[in-house]
Amino acid sequence: MPEWTQEFREDIVKRIQDKNVNRPCPRCGGEQFSLVDGFAVFGMVEDLKDETVRNLVPSVCVACNRCGYLTFHALGPLGLIDKDQPPPAQNKQIVVD
Ligand SMILES: [Zn+2]
Repeated sequence: MPEWTQEFREDIVKRIQDKNVNRPCPRCGGEQFSLVDGFAVFGMVEDLKDETVRNLVPSVCVACNRCGYLTFHALGPLGLIDKDQPPPAQNKQIVVD
């Protein structure tokens, strides 16, 4: 992954826009958003008593400029997971349409 250059940020924003992600903020109706630098990684467990994370879901974070509501987009559908490198353990990920 490249560092968080302006070009990289613009590429991510374009990928999100290409998925028709264009609705206003679900909380305040705001229409201005900012990409937050850095990846958010969700650690998934099968049971709350588990001490080990089973799945990692890397994502990018978008913040509503008015209220700060955060939304996350998994890297896979945006084509941002390097195919040459094994992704974080996602073997149990189920695609739901
Ligand atoms: Zn908002």
